[in-house]
Formats: sequence, C-alpha cells, structure tokens
Amino acid sequence: MTTYPHLLAPLDLGFTTLKNRVLMGSMHTGLEETKDWNRVAEFYAERARGGVALMVTGGMAPNREGGVFPGAAGLFNDDDIANHKVVTDRVHDAGGKIAMQILHAGRYAYGPECVSASAIKSPISPFPPKELDEDGIEKQIADIATAAARAQEAGYDGVEVMGSEGYFLNQFLVTHTNKREDRWGGSYENRMRLPIEVVKRVRKAVGDDFIVIYRLSMIDLIPGGSTWEEVVLLAKEIEKAGATIINTGIGWHEARIPTIATSVPRRAFTWVTKKLMGEVSIPVITSNRINTPEVGEEVLADGCADMVSMARPFLADPNFVAKAAAGKGAQIAPCIACNQACLDHTFSGKISSCLVNPQACYETELTIGPAAEVKTIAVVGAGPAGLSTALTATGRGHKVTLIDRAAEIGGQLNMAKQVPGKEEFWGLVDWYRAMLDDSDIEVKLNTEASADDLAGFDEVIIATGVMPRDPQIDGQDGPNVVGYRDLLQGKATAGDTVVIIGAGGIGFDVAEYLVTDDSPTENLEEWLEEWGVTDPEDHRGGLAPEGPQPEKPVRQVTLLQRKSEKLGKRLGKTTGWIHRAALKLKNVQMVGGVNYERIDAEGLHVSDGEARENPRVLKADTIVLCAGQVSERSLADALIEKGVTPHVIGGADVAAELDAKRAIDQGTRLAATL
Ligand code: NAP
Ligand code: SF4
Repeated sequence: MTTYPHLLAPLDLGFTTLKNRVLMGSMHTGLEETKDWNRVAEFYAERARGGVALMVTGGMAPNREGGVFPGAAGLFNDDDIANHKVVTDRVHDAGGKIAMQILHAGRYAYGPECVSASAIKSPISPFPPKELDEDGIEKQIADIATAAARAQEAGYDGVEVMGSEGYFLNQFLVTHTNKREDRWGGSYENRMRLPIEVVKRVRKAVGDDFIVIYRLSMIDLIPGGSTWEEVVLLAKEIEKAGATIINTGIGWHEARIPTIATSVPRRAFTWVTKKLMGEVSIPVITSNRINTPEVGEEVLADGCADMVSMARPFLADPNFVAKAAAGKGAQIAPCIACNQACLDHTFSGKISSCLVNPQACYETELTIGPAAEVKTIAVVGAGPAGLSTALTATGRGHKVTLIDRAAEIGGQLNMAKQVPGKEEFWGLVDWYRAMLDDSDIEVKLNTEASADDLAGFDEVIIATGVMPRDPQIDGQDGPNVVGYRDLLQGKATAGDTVVIIGAGGIGFDVAEYLVTDDSPTENLEEWLEEWGVTDPEDHRGGLAPEGPQPEKPVRQVTLLQRKSEKLGKRLGKTTGWIHRAALKLKNVQMVGGVNYERIDAEGLHVSDGEARENPRVLKADTIVLCAGQVSERSLADALIEKGVTPHVIGGADVAAELDAKRAIDQGTRLAATL
C-alpha cells in the first residue's frame, strides 16, 4: 500500500490513461529558444523517466504577434514540427506523455505588434496593444487551432490552451481589458465567446482522441476580475466546447498579490479549485505552491481536484513521482519557491535552472558520472556549497569526509529558515540531512578542522562561508547594537524600536523577522487577509474591498542603506516587489542615501548625502547590523601557507555574491570534475 494512494492513482480519460495524478505544469525555461533540440528533449525525457503522468511544455506562440517576446518559440512551419518531434519521441521512449501549451500573450506580448480585445496597455508592458477587428480575431482563432494541429502532427499527446494569468483569452473575459461593443464584448456571453470558440476550433482541428487542457483563471486577483458565477459558467461552456481537462490559473501577472513565491502558504489556492468540483464532469487540476507528495496527496484526498499540477518542483527533482512511489519522499529535493534560478532567470533572458538542482535544464551539459579514480575528499563547511559538493562527490564514488564546526548542517540556511515567509528552508535542510543519512559520507560536526587535519586527503574543499562585514561605525560596540546572526539565532533580542543598518537580502529578512510575530505563511486565513484576498464568490476577482489587512507590526522598524537608490532594488527580479510590499504593509520605514555618523544610547546618528546634510538621530532601542559579508578564508590561507592548494567555493570564495544558488551550483560543478 502506497503512502500516496490518491496521488498515484491512474486517471482514465477514456481514449488514454494517465498513470498518476501528477501534471508537470508549464514553465518557460528558455530551452526551446536555444534551438538545441537534443537539450530540450533530454530535459523533458529526464522528467518522463521520473514518473510524472503528463507534462506541459513552456508556452508556444501560435503566431508572431502572440509571442511573449519577439523570437518566442512556436510551431510555425514544417521544420518546427520536425524539431518538436525530437522531443515527443524522446518523451514517449521514456514512457511519458507530453502536451504543448499554446500561449497567446495578447497585450502581455513584449513587442509593438501585440494585439488584444481593446487598445489598453498593461501595467507590466510598455507596448499598447492594437485592438483586433473581426478578421483579426478570426486570424487568432485560426492560428491557435493550426498550432494545435501542428502539435498533434509533432507527436504531442495533447495541448494546453492558456486561458489564464491575464493572457490573450483572459483579456477578452473581463471589462477591465475588454471595452468592445461588438459580439466579442459587452455582455459576459459575448466576452467569453473567444475562449469557447478557440476550444471548439482546437477540438475540431485535433479530433476526439487528443488531450485538450484549458487553463482557466479561477481567481483573477485584479480589480474588475471575473465573478465566481462567470468562472463556473465559462468552465461549463469550455467543457461543452470539447476540453478534456480544466487546469487552474491563479491571478493575472499584473496582480499585486503574490501567488507562487515562497512566502505564499503551501496549497494556498486549492480551496478555489475545490469550488469548481462537481460543477463540471471533466477532470479538474489544481495548482500553486504544491511542492511535496504529502501536500499533493492531502489536496486530492480533500477533494480539491482530480489532479495536481506542480511545475518548479520538477526542476528541483525530476524524479519526484518515482521517489514518492518508492517510499523515498524524504529524498525528493524540495523546490523552496525562491524563483532565484527559474523565474528570475526567465525574466532576465537567461535559461532557467534550479537553486537546489543546477542540473535542471543543463542535463546535457552538466553530466555527473562515476569518477575515473576514487579519491579521498575533505569538505570543510556543511552549508549549501559544502553539502552540494559532498553529495555530488560521493555520488560519483569518492570517499568524502564532511566537517563543520557547528552542531548541525546547513550553514546560513539555518538562519534563513528563521525568517517568517522562508519556512521552506527547513525542508531544504531536512532534505540535505536525509541525503547525508543515505550516503557513505563521514560527517563530523562540532569539529574545527585545522590545516594539519586536512593533510592526508587527495582533495580539500574549503566551503567555510562568510563572516559579517564590520561597518566600523563609531559606537557599534554599545549594548544597543546586535549583529543579525545573534538575532536570528536567538542569542540576542531587539527592543520595540529598531534601526537596521544595511538593506540587502539579509536586512530585508531581518526587518520581516522583527515586525512579524506568527508567520502568515503558516496560517492561510491570516495570509489571505494580509494580502486582501477573498472568496471570488463574494467579490469580483477575489479582491477584498477593504484591501490588505496586515497584522499590526510587532516593532517599529527603520531600514537604512547608504546608496540613494530605491531600497530592495537588487533583490530577486520576481520577488523583490513582494518583500518591499510586505514591509510597507508593516509600516517599515525605508531610507536610502544616509551616512552613519555614530551610535550612542539615544540611537543612530545619521546625515544625508555627500554634503552630510540634515544631521539627526534615529532613536532606537536596538540597532541591527546587516552590512553584508566578507569571506571566511582563514583555513584556506593556512593551507596555502603549508603548500596545499584547496578548492575554495561558495561564500568563502566570493562573499559579495553570497547566495545559495551560486554556492550550490559551484559546489556541484566542482564535484562533477574531481
Ligand atoms: P548584501 O546584499 O551585499 O547587502 C549588504 C547591505 O549592507 C547593503 O544594503 C549595503 O548597502 C550595506 N553595506 C555594505 N557595506 C557596508 C558598510 N561598510 N557599512 C554599512 N553598510 C554597508 O548582503 P546581505 O544582505 O548580507 O546578503 C548577502 C547575500 O545573501 C545577498 O547577496 C543575497 O544574495 C543573499 N540573500 C538573499 C536574499 C533574498 O531575498 N534573495 C535574502 C537573504 C540573503 P549600502 O552599501 O548602500 O549601505
Ligand atoms: Fe524552486 Fe527555487 Fe528551484 Fe525555482 S530555483 S525551481 S523556485 S527551488
């Protein structure tokens, strides 16, 4: 008997059967645009081998005007069909199934050719769309149907018609973006005509025995979004039009409510999908912040959906389903929903990967095979850099000893996990522990390694991390000044009024820690209130009319930096706005362009700009130092003095860019070469 009976149950679609209830949701990885079809095929085949029932590709444009950006991949000609066939053949050989997502971006298309229901520019794009006329609409429908037919010719098992997240079809549905007065606008019947027509024509183009998923926006999270009644009506019409499955979309891209970031509670929106259960007779898929088999199982057992969609978790671990089925759930590398290596890459025009799994999307480039010669390897430092090196090296057959002076593994990850909204880091550390327990690595905790101790190893890896930078402010040794480490480790406390020096990732985290009592990420009801999300049955689009209702901040916090730019500008591309918004909801004052003059019992004395104007004191019970990091290299230097050349990685190598993504990537790549 499996631990996950609902998750692993097959789903009979009539003409075909899915082997379990797990869908790999669509992700734009950037792989298709490389035109390296072997690489694309390997990415999907690896996940097919890992047991997922059905995968959906990244969005493929049905035509040039509908592409998310100029040059976005699509199936435009016979060559494209042949290229995609490389992918579908490889997936089928691996025992998998794959559907192609057809994504028409409408006004979200990042280019001057973009089109929509009305000529209303989106707040997240500089390009105003052209309003389509009747012929223009017909062309879009025909192009989408043609893309579906080409997908079938290319060997796909189905298509997903992207109807949510504020893209083209969604733009016709709501009056916010559709001001038309013809048969495509006005009444809801008219506004939903386009999605229904698209599904009908797609079904006609592909025949009966082909999966057609429709991704339907169940809670728009924008002003003027759909009512629940409209959502249900659309779902019923989409079923009638010939869809095989309805998938859930949550929130438009322009919504100012986080929907997938790590601070969003797990399964935060499955209650919305559940409302649709019983309204249609085709299977319904739910989505967003489902990242462990336990959560997936619970969602299905609760009757929230017939299937679960997970996207990023398949970057973190392609073998998610196989490991769950084998009773090895603890060994599934967890997606911590950080977006750092996936969505942040996508939005910077880089190929996606994964913070916890640097092999994701690099399957053909970062290959990890057995070592030619077995070596003894000492890894000093059990933070992310050291852990990834040790695990990769042992996987290749090396004899690894992992040493850390701390009593537990994890390094800086143990600090991150203390921050409200970063609870996923607990799971990451647990995963590393499970992997170590299952390995032959000799783990020596509470152990200070000296250069002499390391003399006999074939290879020495120094992953000793970082030390806080000394900001050298007059008075910083006073009793009212604490370092962020002591605070997050519970060795120091803060008073009611706090000033934070330094507004990098850690300054923001510390501010969140100081203003929050119980983490709303652990309490769905509170989180929904905090961000102003309500039942779409009560209010259009699921937006509470009273807006966000945050809990009162526990402390009065001021966050400072010397640079005169906007605070948080350098945080994650897709998550920085959430950190800033969350702190603003808690009345955190953010001040840039200051000089730190001195600290005394009253607080922090500051002035503004180069001319040191406006000298004043920021009264504070506590001043927290978050002034960045410097590399901890003392052991590396001692080894070099003794004539040993260690490999120095992670924060010990480059503190300025200290982050887990770089550390894990560097550690894995190094170990792959030893
Ligand atoms: P950081 O991002 O480099 O920020 C350091 C802060 O200290 C800056 O605000 C900087 O601003 C200030 N600073 C630098 N030198 C200073 C000095 N001598 N005196 C006073 N202030 C000084 O470092 P961090 O916040 O420690 O974070 C370290 C790394 O951890 C980050 O690079 C990030 O990758 C990672 N991290 C990321 C997140 C995330 O949200 N993604 C969260 C936590 C940590 P001014 O120079 O303008 O004063
Ligand atoms: Fe998940 Fe972060 Fe990996 Fe993206 S980079 S898949 S969010 S763990």
